[in-house]
Amino acid sequence: MQGFHSRLPADLPLGESAPMNTPRSSFLQSVNRHFTHAMGFLDLPEGLAERIIQCNSTYTVHFGVRLRGRMYSFTGWRSVHSEHREPVKGGIRFTPHADAEEVEALAALMTLKCSLTDLPFGGSKGALKIDPAQWTQPELERITRRFTQELTKRGLIGPGLNVPAPDMGTGEREMAWMADEFRRANPADAIHARACVTGKPLSKGGIAGRTEATGRGVQYAVHSYLQDARTPGVGGRRDPENLRIVVQGFGNVGYHAAKFLSEEDGALITVVAERDGQVVNPQGLAIEELKRHHLKTGSILGFEGGESVAGGSGGLEQPCDILIPAAMENAISEENAARTKAALIVEAANGPLTFEADRILRQRGVIVLPDLYVNAGGVVVSYFEWVKNLTHIPFGLMERRRRERRNHAIAEALEQMTGNTFPAGMRDGFLEGGREIDLVRSGLEDVMRSTWSRIADLLESRPELGDYRTAAYVAAIGEIAAAYEAIGI
Ligand code: GLU
Repeated sequence: MQGFHSRLPADLPLGESAPMNTPRSSFLQSVNRHFTHAMGFLDLPEGLAERIIQCNSTYTVHFGVRLRGRMYSFTGWRSVHSEHREPVKGGIRFTPHADAEEVEALAALMTLKCSLTDLPFGGSKGALKIDPAQWTQPELERITRRFTQELTKRGLIGPGLNVPAPDMGTGEREMAWMADEFRRANPADAIHARACVTGKPLSKGGIAGRTEATGRGVQYAVHSYLQDARTPGVGGRRDPENLRIVVQGFGNVGYHAAKFLSEEDGALITVVAERDGQVVNPQGLAIEELKRHHLKTGSILGFEGGESVAGGSGGLEQPCDILIPAAMENAISEENAARTKAALIVEAANGPLTFEADRILRQRGVIVLPDLYVNAGGVVVSYFEWVKNLTHIPFGLMERRRRERRNHAIAEALEQMTGNTFPAGMRDGFLEGGREIDLVRSGLEDVMRSTWSRIADLLESRPELGDYRTAAYVAAIGEIAAAYEAIGI
């Protein structure tokens, strides 16, 4: 059984701000309330606001796979939130907790993220209701391939239509299976088939730096905020060195963000919190060692480089300068929002604050860097991968040697003119012609910095917007509205 349906948007009248005492929000309601709140600051033609908020379609599929001598049924979804730009883009998560509403909320966030960062994509998201830990690798491969067949049949995967990517519970391996399955089903278009998903392994058309991209983007978001003289920094401090950071969630995003902020910027990751508890070290946790321990034992608890505290969600309430929720949606709600201690919350996860939590934190003067900006690094580097697949040429290939030769010539000229030798520490960086990873990082940093300016400039010129999230929503929705008006729908 399968079908499309469309869910109604916010339960609030459009163009009005939600009152403070609204009932507890689900994830989708939270996103829709943020949408509705932001719409109140935009002067949109009648009906357009509703058109933009509404998820265009959600495809639900139930399919069977014969495994372990019997038939097992699986349920999956792919939501297309907005096709104002195509292809539509967004990850696919494998989790036992998935449902259609969550997928629609995530798809809406993808529309906003792509618009805010000016990527040429609409928003989409998918999920398969499955606990990957319950299945062997060959079983997961068969299930993933069957799901891909369903998506292919419906035009819900394809380089120009809909381009999935990794999300919670999926990674390079699943993306390689999906790309291969799609290519088999489309032999006539095999030349572009690799661009049907992003986040693939390098050997299968992936791009350097995609796995770390979301965490890297979180780091650039923190830099952009701290270095902007218009912000108060963190208690006036503008250097990440020695800032105390709590990271909730030690998956791909939490791990990479913690790693870069501590190893490269000198911040102290004083707490890492996971579902089963937290590890604490006021002097800063050694993130690489913690990762090794996590891989070996399956838990962060018991790590020798810190004190382990089992159970609870208390990590979010530990004293710190910056709190980085990097796990699930709704981690901070009206229940615990008043007990968080950070001056700055950096939303590395999608939707970690409910609408109500966001209001409570705002009243307390806590600054929140919103998810649609902070975690956009993944889809930005996905965009680079998609372009690489479609152009069939690695980034930098045509000019690397030429640039190296030119830089050599400049270095030599400088040495001759000054009589000094080029400082050894700078030499390699200056002479190097730009590997793919360097170009990816440079491109990502550029997008994160310019997007920050876009948000901060808008808030500066329209202080009535009140916070960075509303400014980001207003910027993103303004672009979507312009696209809708231009195409006349
Ligand atoms: N799943 C990631 C996200 O939520 C990446 C999406 C993509 O690369 O398309 O942003």
